[in-house]
Amino acid sequence: MSLLEKLSNTLSETAKSLGKKSSEFVEISKLSLNAQKKQDKIQDKYEQIGKYVYSKLKRVSYITREELEPWINEINALEGDIDRLEKMALNIRNIKHCTYCNIELDDDANYCPLCGKYLN
Ligand SMILES: [Zn+2]
Repeated sequence: MSLLEKLSNTLSETAKSLGKKSSEFVEISKLSLNAQKKQDKIQDKYEQIGKYVYSKLKRVSYITREELEPWINEINALEGDIDRLEKMALNIRNIKHCTYCNIELDDDANYCPLCGKYLN
């Protein structure tokens, strides 16, 4: 489960228990949906790459990075977008997180346990 799905699900439970839909919940849901669409686009790109590689290697024995470059760039851009959406969700929820790898942290954490960056 992605970070956004997790945030969205937790909030969904909270909203249910309170018997109301908070604006926070609506905002996070929007971000989550947006991220899901981008994730679907990435899957499409993977499929296109797979088809391209398969049909090419059926005919010749090599493939170059240049041929796949446009897809690689598009996937990188989409991953960057998803990163930004996750950061926005963490900020809305006011959850302490590593700004480098986006993981959720304990309130009293000074260093990210994943990348080791100092966080103030
Ligand atoms: Zn980190």
